[in-house]
Amino acid sequence: LNPNRTDLGKMDTESLWHAMVQHRPFSEKPPKCMKRGVGCHVTDAEGVEYLDGVSGLWCVNVGYGRQELADVAYEQMVELAYSPLTMSHEPGIRLAHKLLALLGYEGKVFFSTSGSEANETAFKIARQYHAQTAAAGSGPRYKVISRYRGYHGHTMGALSATAQAERKLKYEPLVPGFLHVSPPYAYRFGEGRSEAVYNAACLRELEQTILYEGAESVAAVIVEPIISGGGVIVPPEGYLRGVREICDRTGILLIYDEVVNGFGRTGRMFGHQHWGVQPDMICFAKGLTSGYMPLSATVVKQPVFEAFMGEPGSDSHFRHISTYGGTPVCTAVGLRNIEILEREGLPERAAEMGDYLLGRLQELLDHPNVGDVRGKGLLLGIELVKDKESKTPLEDAGMKAVLKQCMDHQVIIGRNTNTIPGFTNVLILCPPLVVTREQADHLADTLHKAISTLHARG
Ligand code: PMP
Repeated sequence: LNPNRTDLGKMDTESLWHAMVQHRPFSEKPPKCMKRGVGCHVTDAEGVEYLDGVSGLWCVNVGYGRQELADVAYEQMVELAYSPLTMSHEPGIRLAHKLLALLGYEGKVFFSTSGSEANETAFKIARQYHAQTAAAGSGPRYKVISRYRGYHGHTMGALSATAQAERKLKYEPLVPGFLHVSPPYAYRFGEGRSEAVYNAACLRELEQTILYEGAESVAAVIVEPIISGGGVIVPPEGYLRGVREICDRTGILLIYDEVVNGFGRTGRMFGHQHWGVQPDMICFAKGLTSGYMPLSATVVKQPVFEAFMGEPGSDSHFRHISTYGGTPVCTAVGLRNIEILEREGLPERAAEMGDYLLGRLQELLDHPNVGDVRGKGLLLGIELVKDKESKTPLEDAGMKAVLKQCMDHQVIIGRNTNTIPGFTNVLILCPPLVVTREQADHLADTLHKAISTLHARG
């Protein structure tokens, strides 16, 4: 390797292992090298500007290039970059306090660095909580139930909770005790049934799974209120309330993964607020700092936390630590990020612009390959099919053609993450919450053009 090389493309090919990319032995073209971001736009090293319809990886909620986030990080880094292990610090205290105030309940906040880690933390808390509250002689409550199509992270526990077959292949055996049930995916599986009947069927499946497994062996259920990367699946009215009731009846803890849903994305500060059903634990990352710093949080309600309190010398404390979890710099940025979201009314803006963009995307329903258009706020999905009757997913080449067309027009659109082979057929749109009406129109117009080239594909 030449240490003086200046050709970034070649250096990239020589040295970088990119996430989720099939690297090839010869003539590999590296991904575009990004240099700058402002608002909803990113610019590459050659000066080409792209409209980012996916907020990086569903995370840059307040948009790119926020000087005040850079300033607050700089100031905090100069003042106190890191705090000794057993000490506390002001930005961390203030952010924890703010999160609980926003959620509207008493509890405790455990900081870590990524969405996966926040979920891992929740799983460990759930298992230990039950170990410390169970009646003498009962077996361990260790199982965790999640939904098919849900993504919960890349580390072994979070991956075990991720019910997307393609992601797990080749990494087995995974962590024992992770089970999956069907999400309320009305477009594909609710056909011919009313919303209420289909909803009841999904809840019955969850309850029966718990009964078959033995409720006394189940620690937690984890759900994203709205499934995001798995294909934008919005639950019907009554679903979350039903899950809550089942958990309450069976003594199981309910965890919300709001790594994507949180911080304005769906048109409310938190996704679950659409339904007003509280969890026992909630996990945040991404939008918590809008991607400006690696920070995540597991928020635990007070009754759960109380199982971890004990007399001096007792051993009920949580044996868990993350070196970079909740540093002064990360939490200072998180706090300012929330200030921006509130000051600029970005959750409300996401609701308004989301309704507008959804309306523009629904015009696409006339196209023979557009099966469904759905979402809430600025978390929107377009499910592409070969034909509307069979709902057979559009094949990979068609999906790639649409994404390439958009990219050729300098518009970045997302796609659902691997679920089962052949089912990566949902386009995802989740631009920064500062998106303007003109930018929303540009996103919609570009998609209209790209999808129109699919005509007669099947
Ligand atoms: N949960 C959800 C819903 C996610 O979308 C993601 C990341 N895409 C994660 C968890 C994991 O977050 P991270 O990549 O920060 O570990």
